[in-house]
Amino acid sequence: MILRYDLNSELRLISYDVAVPSGRTHETINLVTLGVMAVGYAYGRTQGLAADLEAALPPPARTAFLASYLVGTFLITPDLDLAENQVRAKENWGLLGLLWVPYGHLFKHRGLSHSWLLGPLTRLIYIALLGLLFSVLAAALGPHLGYEFRFEAQLGDAWREFALGAVIGYYLSQWLHLIADGIRPG
Ligand SMILES: [Zn+2]
Repeated sequence: MILRYDLNSELRLISYDVAVPSGRTHETINLVTLGVMAVGYAYGRTQGLAADLEAALPPPARTAFLASYLVGTFLITPDLDLAENQVRAKENWGLLGLLWVPYGHLFKHRGLSHSWLLGPLTRLIYIALLGLLFSVLAAALGPHLGYEFRFEAQLGDAWREFALGAVIGYYLSQWLHLIADGIRPG
């Protein structure tokens, strides 16, 4: 009797897992995909495509792609829409994970946050607003605390490639999450 009960709950757990992949599963899918892309890239270079690949993916674009892909895999994921629940991405932020609780209240789980174009954008706007709030606060409080807050970015001419790589890397990481969740574009 007991054995049968355990087996049933185990099965329920498995079927739940299939329907909604865990954070760890999402991370694994993204990392494996990244590995496959890296192998494809390395293989392409050995096949005399080095110059073409270099032109299509200049170093700033590559760096930005990798960085934003990893951020989108570990730190900014669609499942941040779970306000109260434990989410791996939120845990990866440490204490700062609390900053995402309002986002979870604003967006219902697997709603707009899990759409293909607007979903990833909601998180970018949210984090941009947080950054803005922080810099306004820092600029206002800084002089009283005896320090100056200055933000400088030097990208020069490479900013276009950098931005493009960053957008593609971030969106791809989010789209892999949606595909794993069984959500189609549109
Ligand atoms: Zn999800």
